[in-house]
Amino acid sequence: MTIEKGVFMCLMFILLSNPLASGADVLKVASFSTLLTEIAQKVGGNHVNVAGLVKPGQDPHEYQPTPDDLKQAADAKLILLSGKHIEHYLDKIQQATGGKGESLSVGDALPNLKMKADPDEPQEKAAADANGMIDDPHWWNSVANVEKATTVVRDALIKLDPANRADYESRAKAYLTKLEALDQWAKRKVAELPRDKRKLVTSHDAFQYLAKDYGFKVYAIEGVSTETEPSDRHIAELIDQIKKQQVKAIFLESTLNPKVTVEITRETGAKIGGTLYADGLGEGDGSTYDGMIRHNIETIVDALK
Ligand SMILES: [Zn+2]
Repeated sequence: MTIEKGVFMCLMFILLSNPLASGADVLKVASFSTLLTEIAQKVGGNHVNVAGLVKPGQDPHEYQPTPDDLKQAADAKLILLSGKHIEHYLDKIQQATGGKGESLSVGDALPNLKMKADPDEPQEKAAADANGMIDDPHWWNSVANVEKATTVVRDALIKLDPANRADYESRAKAYLTKLEALDQWAKRKVAELPRDKRKLVTSHDAFQYLAKDYGFKVYAIEGVSTETEPSDRHIAELIDQIKKQQVKAIFLESTLNPKVTVEITRETGAKIGGTLYADGLGEGDGSTYDGMIRHNIETIVDALK
């Protein structure tokens, strides 16, 4: 790089960087959820500097914080956690931060659905109740939940930075208006599908919250985790169900190996309906929450019609 080009790049960097975001009075936020990263950025605007530690496309079930991630969490005034027991590394965060900064487990403030714990996963087994059930962590697949999460994040920012209350309130309101429009669009799109065709077969049980909002019944190939392979017996049962329910299409997920799914389609004649974003934001359409929901709903409805 020439000196001129170097100076130019530096100037561009200064111009493009938000002057507020590098200032001392900006609120540092560390987020362990791609959805909460988006919400914090939308609601916080120039008043916050959000470190998104779980990256788009990363599997939040398998994510482990790096030393640098933990350092960023320790530097943050507000730590946003997805909650519902998905962060099985809370002890590491606690250790790194020493309890400094406010930890907010956003999902824990939202309505809860239960799902079967995977007995092969020690973390899940430990968290399970007497009936072997755990909290379903995939709250972000409900737009109504994301609306509620937005108000939780808004209130946390106001509490830590009351001087900018009016800004947080108006930014949250604008984002909530968009979410409400998204929910209305999703309802209209799902209405194209007769109730008896609202059967969702996906490669891990991540869509209970979406199913509840829009009247689908879920048949999952795996349990909550993406780490374990489904048993032969579970696959056989599922093949049986798909045939019996005359399900037209099943869906893959962007973070999963499609091998088992392909096997099931071969046995049942159901087609692959497409790839869904199950575990948060990703690449392409799913790089924003609006895009992610539109992609998922459109893919499901169009394949089952
Ligand atoms: Zn998941």
